[in-house]
Amino acid sequence: MADKNPKHINTIKPTRTPPEHQDAHVRAKNFNEVTIGYNEALALQEADRCMQCTKPGCSRGCPVGIDIRGFIDLVSKRDYRGAYSLITEANLFPAICGRVCPQELQCEANCVVGKKLQPVAIGLLEKFVGDTAQANDWKRHHEITANGKKAAIVGSGPAGLACASDLAKAGVKVVVFEALHRPGGVLMYGIPEFRLPKQVVLREIDNLKDLGVTIKTNKVIGKLHTITELLDKHAYDAVFIASGAGYPMGLGVKGELLNGVMSANEFLTRVNLMHGYDFPRHDTPVGIGRNIAVIGCGNTAMDAARVAMRLNTKNVYIVYRRSMKDSPARREELKHAIEEGVQFYWETHPVEILASADGWLTGMKCTSGGEDFILDVDTVIYALGTMANPIIARSTPALRTDERGYIVVDQQTQMTSIPGVFAGGDISKAPGSFTTVIHAMQTGRRAAQGILDYIAQKADK
Ligand SMILES: Cc1cc2nc3c(=O)[nH]c(=O)nc-3n(C[C@H](O)[C@H](O)[C@H](O)COP(=O)(O)OP(=O)(O)OC[C@H]3O[C@@H](n4cnc5c(N)ncnc54)[C@H](O)[C@@H]3O)c2cc1C
Repeated sequence: MADKNPKHINTIKPTRTPPEHQDAHVRAKNFNEVTIGYNEALALQEADRCMQCTKPGCSRGCPVGIDIRGFIDLVSKRDYRGAYSLITEANLFPAICGRVCPQELQCEANCVVGKKLQPVAIGLLEKFVGDTAQANDWKRHHEITANGKKAAIVGSGPAGLACASDLAKAGVKVVVFEALHRPGGVLMYGIPEFRLPKQVVLREIDNLKDLGVTIKTNKVIGKLHTITELLDKHAYDAVFIASGAGYPMGLGVKGELLNGVMSANEFLTRVNLMHGYDFPRHDTPVGIGRNIAVIGCGNTAMDAARVAMRLNTKNVYIVYRRSMKDSPARREELKHAIEEGVQFYWETHPVEILASADGWLTGMKCTSGGEDFILDVDTVIYALGTMANPIIARSTPALRTDERGYIVVDQQTQMTSIPGVFAGGDISKAPGSFTTVIHAMQTGRRAAQGILDYIAQKADK
């Protein structure tokens, strides 16, 4: 396609096509998707804004290197199935990535149109293609020749799934071990339904079955089998550890173990994975009150606050030690939270969580600008970041970890200190690296290549 003449910038509509949205007043009380997205007419209108430039920056901005210009060209020609095939060469999950990637920092930040005008809405177009494929139940046919090798993957989050997909396409027999009763990692238990419907995740994961991947749930590696047992006893040729970093960091203030205080991970798991919002039809209670303080202001805090808004609560407050401009949350999430009625206490620190005689939280003492005050809340949810879960490292002494417990890997191959054992995603996070769905997938794909090279080298010996 590089031989085509790009469109002239003067012929491009300056503003991007807005997607359909649920109104803020309506959506603040339901779990349906906030961004409905593009219908066919809107998608065609937006695809027309792509210049089809000779040197596209967009693909270089995409951590898994999707041929973006190519798929948008196919959308313009109404060949949605062709667009789906092209995207899924690099990434099996367009309906997920189109929804949750921070495109403003990746593909769209590198869009050539975006240098003068608003960048092409690549994420929304990817979502349109992914959703169209799901609606029509399109399957991507892959020619697979089994090579007699087998690999074990620990964890079924985006890193594990991306690695599984590439290995299976290359003919390796793949078994994924997942600790929880459902696959998907943060996609299932962390990111809420109104940003990423769980049916969409499950349907995308279903595509792995067509590649012959087996997913075994309720299997905690480190307890059931150790990593070395997978290699030695169960004769896997390689192992990929993609167990994520889901261990919540505590608050460090008096009262943090009181009834009514919980981590955002626990809260979101109760709601997203266990469908606690539909209690008692589903049997897990959520256990929050009417006035909620969420501590922290990252994406997890935004998700927790916006979920809390939808649960028959009266007031939901974000308490954050810094100012709005310092918030690491995506601007869109912050905007949505404000529109939905979340209230913000900027530059405010929690000092102590107060308790009744029987151990229930009764309020939270805070300090801001040298003044102390009591926030009248009955639930505190802390979203201060997470760390590496130590189960696997503790049960695998030869596995090198850094001082924070993250697994140390070779940056090119993702191989760990144990030959044949690879790691990726949040559990192999190097200082300053990104922890996003697509970066987890990028390391998963890299590890798949590392594993294929490792297996080939071993066979040569
Ligand atoms: C609330 C929240 C919202 C987020 N929103 C976004 C977003 O909008 N966009 C974005 O790009 N990123 C987002 N992120 C970050 C992103 O989800 C993570 O970076 C990504 O999921 C990491 O992928 P992973 O595969 O490394 O791990 P995970 O998704 O954490 O998956 C790890 C899996 O391994 C399993 N596991 C753990 N230990 C074991 C074991 N011993 N044996 C077997 N299985 C095990 C876990 O149960 C889990 O299923 C969000 C994170 C959170 C917490």
